[in-house]
This record gives sequence, C-alpha cells and structure tokens, in this order.
Amino acid sequence: MSTDSITQTPMIDLNDGRSIPQLGFGTYKIEDDKDAEQAVKKAVEIGYQLVDTAAVYKNEKGVGAGLQGKDDIWLTTKVWNESQGYDRALKAFDKCLDRLGRDSVDLVLIHWPCPDDNLYVDTWKAFIEIQKAGKAKSIGVSNFLEPHLKRLADETGVLPVLNQIELHPSFQQKDARRVHADMGIAIQSWSPLGQGEALDSDVVKRIAEKTGKSPAQVVLRWHIDNGLCVIPKASSEKHMRDNFGVLDFTLSQDDLEAFEALDSKDGRMGPDPATMNS
Ligand code: NDP
Repeated sequence: MSTDSITQTPMIDLNDGRSIPQLGFGTYKIEDDKDAEQAVKKAVEIGYQLVDTAAVYKNEKGVGAGLQGKDDIWLTTKVWNESQGYDRALKAFDKCLDRLGRDSVDLVLIHWPCPDDNLYVDTWKAFIEIQKAGKAKSIGVSNFLEPHLKRLADETGVLPVLNQIELHPSFQQKDARRVHADMGIAIQSWSPLGQGEALDSDVVKRIAEKTGKSPAQVVLRWHIDNGLCVIPKASSEKHMRDNFGVLDFTLSQDDLEAFEALDSKDGRMGPDPATMNS
C-alpha cells in the first residue's frame, strides 16, 4: 500500500503495472440514469477516485454522464452473463462504451464465471483483445473461484488484475484471500458493509465508540487495513460522506483481531459462484 498523504486514497498495485484506488463508489441499485448521474457527480465532489458500474445495473448512461470530463476518475464496468463468449463479449463491451460515452474504461470485469455455460475462457480471450485495442486499460473478473482463475492462467497465460468478490465481516473469505495473494490478484470486496447488516454487530459498534468513528467507517477501514479494495454503495450524501471519511485513521491490531469472531461459513448473502449461471 502506498499513500502520498494520510487523507489521500491509498492505492493497490496491480499485476499489470497499474495501481487502483482502494476506496471507490458502488452504484448497484441506482437504476435511474438521472439518479446515477447525480450520485456519481456527488461522489466525485466528495473525493471518490473510483466508480463501479456494470451493464446489468442499467445505469451506465447516467454514470458516464456523471463522469463526463473526469477521465482521471477510475471507471470499472462489467460484461453480463448472457453476453459471454468471444464475439458476444466484444459486441457487449462496445455497447458498454457507447452507453458510458467513452472510448475506454480503466477496468472491465467478467461479472460471473457461470461455469455450466463454460464460456468464461472465450470471454477472457475477448477481454485480452479489448485490452490490446486500448479499450480497457486493465482486465479482470468478478465472482471467480480458484479453479476458474487457474483455468484462465493455464489456457491464456494472462491473469486478471483483480477479482471482485463478496466479502464482509461475516464472510471474510480467508482461504480465497490466501489464494489471491499467492497468485498476485487483487481483491475488491463487494457488499463491503454486508448490505448494511455488518453495522449492527456489537464488535463493530464497540470499536466505533472507542475510535469515535461510525460503524460503517470501522468496517470499511477493516477492509482497507487488510489490503482489500472496497466499493460501498450509498444513496444519501450523508452515507457517501461517511464512507469516504476512512482515510485518516487505522485500526489497532486488537481491533482487527476482534473482527475474527464475526466470520461465518454461512455468511454469504449473494449467489454462490459455483452454481450461478446465466
Ligand atoms: P453495501 O455493503 O455497500 O451496503 C449498501 C447498504 O448499506 C445500503 O443499504 C446503504 O444504504 C447502506 N449504507 C451505506 N453506507 C452507509 C453508512 N455510512 N451508514 C449506514 N448505512 C450505510 O452493499 P452493496 O450490495 O450495494 O455492494 C456495494 C457495491 O458492490 C455495489 O453497489 C456494486 O457496485 C458492487 N456489487 C457487485 C456485485 C458483483 O457481483 N460483482 C454484487 C453486488 C454488489 P443507503 O443506500 O440508504 O445509503
């Protein structure tokens, strides 16, 4: 992790030589384009350096409008499951660019591996071409399990820079974190606040009281102090500001260890990538 000053967004080095802001703004469920445009504009005004969208969020137009003239803000989008396959992924990604009103994005992800469809290697080959054409500066995946990552490496020789996976205090993904560290793939936590549920935990509330920070700030700091990237979603300006206010403190070793008790093997909230298909 490197930072220029304590209040600047820390960056994580990626395996393609680039680096990504560790804190960003998630836009899932902000479906109306006008709302998305306003939310993204506000996020940038607050200081967020990264915005996460996806074809399936149906807000790429609004996100693109909100980021107009802000080419310095990291933009990630994702190709949806029904668009997997070499030709289909190329076409679907061009449509993402059209909707975003851009020539390129910083990062494009395969949204889910959909293993039964068995198209993710072909989709990855399309992503390699997309990167070569300069339409995505970096390429990555989301919801990939270890065997899926290994197959991409074995069959194409190109590793994703990042895997965006479900990760929060009650689903800490410790085994996956070890695998990713060994392979040199960064992790970006989706639903980093456990869709808000993590904020109700007594451990989190106690640390929040002790540090004078909000429960959301304590949870997001736990991710950052563990070397994870985070993309919390918020609809209100209050929550957006709260979530951005995590750059001027760190958690103590004792506080980080207290989170261990919250991990649960049944803590998954979203679909299982092993069985999710298009
Ligand atoms: P989060 O864990 O980010 O939680 C969002 C919820 O927490 C909302 O209800 C929000 O309320 C609430 N909240 C946010 N900030 C605060 C705060 N400071 N205090 C109290 N409550 C707060 O869940 P998401 O599922 O939205 O995940 C975040 C992002 O991850 C998505 O937007 C998307 O970009 C990405 N994602 C990716 C997936 C994938 O398959 N790759 C799957 C799911 C998500 P409110 O809206 O009222 O502010």
